Amino acid sequence: MAWRALAKKALSTSYLSNCGAAITASHSLHSTLPDVLLCSRVDLLTASRNLRSCWGIRNYHASVSLLSWRGRKAEEAPGLKTLGREKQVKRVNKLRAPPVEARYVPPKLKQQAKLTQEKTVEIFEGMTLVELAKRTGSSVRVLQEILTSIGEKVGSEFDPITIDVAELVSMEVGVNVKKLHSEEGAILKPRPPVVTVMGHVDHGKTSLLDALRKTSVAAKEAGGITQHLGAFVVSMPSGASITFLDTPGHAAFTAMRARGAAVTDIVTLVVAADDGVMPQTLEAMSHAREANVPVVVAINKCDKPGADPEQVRIQLGSEGLSLEDLGGDVQVVEISALKGTGLDKLEEALLLQAELMDLKARVDGPAQAYVVEARVDRGRGPLVTAIVKSGTLNVGQYVVVGAEWGRIRAIRDMAGRTAELAGPAMPVEIEGMRGLPMAGDDITVVGSEERARMLSQGRRKKLERERLERMNQENVEASAEEGDEADDVPERVEVAVVVKGDVQGTVQAVADSLRSLNSPQVFVNIVHMGVGPISQSDVDKAQACNACIVGFNIRSPPSPISLSAKQANIKIFLHRVIYHLLEEMGKLIVEKAPGTAETQVTGEAEVLSIFELKSRKSKGPDVKIAGCRITDGRFTRTATMRLLRSGEVVFEGSCASLKREKQDVEAVGKGNECGLVIQDCQDFKVGDVIQCLEQVIRKPKFVSSESGAVRIEC
Ligand code: GDP
Repeated sequence: MAWRALAKKALSTSYLSNCGAAITASHSLHSTLPDVLLCSRVDLLTASRNLRSCWGIRNYHASVSLLSWRGRKAEEAPGLKTLGREKQVKRVNKLRAPPVEARYVPPKLKQQAKLTQEKTVEIFEGMTLVELAKRTGSSVRVLQEILTSIGEKVGSEFDPITIDVAELVSMEVGVNVKKLHSEEGAILKPRPPVVTVMGHVDHGKTSLLDALRKTSVAAKEAGGITQHLGAFVVSMPSGASITFLDTPGHAAFTAMRARGAAVTDIVTLVVAADDGVMPQTLEAMSHAREANVPVVVAINKCDKPGADPEQVRIQLGSEGLSLEDLGGDVQVVEISALKGTGLDKLEEALLLQAELMDLKARVDGPAQAYVVEARVDRGRGPLVTAIVKSGTLNVGQYVVVGAEWGRIRAIRDMAGRTAELAGPAMPVEIEGMRGLPMAGDDITVVGSEERARMLSQGRRKKLERERLERMNQENVEASAEEGDEADDVPERVEVAVVVKGDVQGTVQAVADSLRSLNSPQVFVNIVHMGVGPISQSDVDKAQACNACIVGFNIRSPPSPISLSAKQANIKIFLHRVIYHLLEEMGKLIVEKAPGTAETQVTGEAEVLSIFELKSRKSKGPDVKIAGCRITDGRFTRTATMRLLRSGEVVFEGSCASLKREKQDVEAVGKGNECGLVIQDCQDFKVGDVIQCLEQVIRKPKFVSSESGAVRIEC
C-alpha cells in the first residue's frame, strides 16, 4: 500500500479550510412562512381537471421485494373457488344459442405519446454569436434581433457574450441549454471534498451525520449546538476539511442529480455490521456508479454484539465492490456512529480518497454554485444553503437561482458568521432571494438586475411550458393504456393535496412520496407546495381545489386557521414520520377509490332432489325446483346462480325464487336446506352443484414493503 502511505503524507500539508471568513453576528434561525406557489396557475388546474377523466396507470416506486411481491399470484377471493374465466365463457357459449353476428369493433390503436424533444445545445462563457447561431440553428441576424429586444448591446458577431446572455437567447429561440464550465487557463487550487451519506434504512446514516455534525466547525463555534442547514464542514487537525451534505438518503442525491447538480464528490456508504447488504445498499451502490462517484464504505454498528464486519465485506465484494482489503481501491472503515468510534478513521479515508481524486477548483471569477437546501425565515426572507463548485460568490452580486432571482444581501458560513465571499466547496447561507428555489438548482451570477429578472422570467416560462407538456404527455399515455382496459377500470378519482413542510427539500420529498401513491383509480394531485406553517391562504387554496392539507415537520396551525379549515370541511394531516403520513394518506386514497366490481362465489349448494311445478297457465312452461343444501357460504335471492355438473358449468342465470319451507326468503345460510329456481333453467340433476355469484366492489389495498416503499395495489 505504498500509494496510500504517500497520499497520507501528502495530506498533512493540504486543504486549508475555506471556512475562515471573519465577522460576528449570529442570528437565530427561525424557519417560517411565506408560500411558494409552485403549481398555482388556475389555468393549469383547469387543464388538469379537464384531463383527469382519462388519466391512467402510472409507474410506482417498486423495490426488489415489492417487485417479487407483485409477481406473486393474487389472493383468491374468500369463499369458494371460482372457475377460470375463459373456461366459463367457453362452456356457457356451448350451451347457448350461437351468438348473433356481432358488430365488428376494430382493436384500439395505442395513441402515440407526442414526445416533444427539444434540441439541447452546449453553451459556455465567452462564446460568440456565430458559435451560438451554429449550435441553435438560427441565423446570426435573428440572434442579433433577440439581443436588441432584450436590451443587450449588439456588437460584432465575433464578440464574446456571457453565459447568461447565451442562455437567454437560446431560450428565446426555443432550445435547451447545457452549460459547459471550462476552467482553461484559470488558476486551480485544491478544494475540500463534498460527501453524501447513503445506505439502507436504519443502518445509521442519520446517526453518523449527527455524530459528524457534533465535530463540525459550526458545532465547535456554537458550543456544540447546530441545526440542520443542508451541509456542514468538519475540520481536521491537519487543517484539511470535509464538507458533508446533511441530508441522508437517496432521494436527495437523485433529486440533485435530476437537476444536473453534480455536487457530491464521494459517497459514504453506510452498512450495518449486524444486518449486512440490503436492497437500499445496492441501490446506493448503483446511484454512485451511475453518477461516477467513488464510494468509501463505513461499516456501522460495530459496537453491537451481533456485528460481523467480515461478513459485510464478503457481501460487498460479491456485489462487485472492489474493496481495498481484497486488492481493490474502495476503502472500508469500521465505525460506531452511536459510540463515536472510528469517525476519525472515516474522515481520514475520505480525505485520502479526495487526495487521490486531486480535487481542484477555480477560485477566481464568477461562481458556479448549487442549492443544497432552501427555507424561509420570517425576518430574513428566503434563505438558501449553497455550495460553490468553482469561482467565488460575492455579496452584492445579482444571481438567478433556478427560476428565482435576487441580489445577495448577506453570506453566512455554517457557524452563522457573515462573510463577504464564498469559495469552492464552502457551504454558505445566502440571503436576498426574491423567491424560494429548489435543492439542486444552479446559481448563476448575472451582470444586472434587469438581466436577472429576464433570465428568471424566461426560465419560469420554460418550466411552465415543460409542465404542461409533461401533463399532456402523461395524459396521452394514460388514455392509451386506459383504452385497452376501459371496460374493467372505473373512472379515476382525484385526491387533491396541498403540501406544506419545514424546508424545501422536505416538501419536495413529501410531494414525490405522495405521488408514488398514484394508482389507476386515484390520482394524487399536488395542487400546491410551500415552505412554512399552514396559513389561511393554504386553506383557501385547499377549499378552491377541494383538497386536503398535509403538513410535514411543522407545528399545528393557529386555532383560527384550524377552525376555518374545519368549517370548510378541509382535512389537515400533520406528521413528522413520512411512513405514518403515507399510511394515513393511503387509507384516505383507498376510501376514495371507486374500487372494481368483481364477481365472487359467495355460496355453494348441493342439489339433493328435484321437484317439478306444473305451470298455472295452460301453455306456460313447467318450473323445475332444485331442493338443495347450502354446503358453504350463503345464498341470496338477488344473486346469479351457476349450475355445475362434474365441475363443468352447464348453466348460469338469475335466481327466480328462493324458499325455505314454502316461505320466500332473502338469504339462506350454510347447513340449511332450500328450494331454488333459476330463471329459464330446466336441467337440474341430483348431485349437481350450484354456486351463488355476487357482484362485490373490491377496493384497492395500501401495500408497504420492508424497505419502506409504499404503493396502492388495485
Ligand atoms: P438511518 O435510517 O440510516 O438514518 O438510521 P438511524 O441513524 O436513524 O439509526 C437507526 C437506528 O440504529 C437508531 O436506533 C440508532 O440509534 C441505531 N444506530 C445507529 N448507529 C448505531 C451504532 O453505531 N451502534 C448501535 N448500536 N446502534 C446504532
